[in-house]
Amino acid sequence: MSDCLFCKISDGEISGDIVHQNDSVLAFNDINPQAPHHVLIIPRKHIPTTNDISDDDRDVLGEMYLAAKQIAAERGIADGGYRTVFNCNSDAGQKVYHIHLHLLGGRKMGWPPG
Ligand code: 5GP
Ligand code: ZN
Repeated sequence: MSDCLFCKISDGEISGDIVHQNDSVLAFNDINPQAPHHVLIIPRKHIPTTNDISDDDRDVLGEMYLAAKQIAAERGIADGGYRTVFNCNSDAGQKVYHIHLHLLGGRKMGWPPG
């Protein structure tokens, strides 16, 4: 989508601190990290919210979690633990309307989340 920040990062139109990529997904460091490790994993396909995920997106959703798992292992936080989060719409605080899986780690997480 032409006016989407994360599509622009995926297309290379805007630079991102990319940590992992393949044909279907891209991962980059969050610009405003909320933990020592805060990576955003996105599909290259523009999907506005998790409400918009369709049957066709099964593979790319799996790719996103495989990327999260790999990045956590590379960063040495897999065994200690980490959190993966999708925020959907305003009550969850979604700000960028291109789905992104937050991978957060490197510190103790509270529960329930705020
Ligand atoms: P949301 O609140 O939509 O779940 O999360 C959006 C995330 O995108 C936030 O954690 C925010 O810091 C991050 N973000 C917003 N703009 C940019 C940007 O231009 N580059 C990067 N790398 N992250 C961004
Ligand atoms: Zn987009």
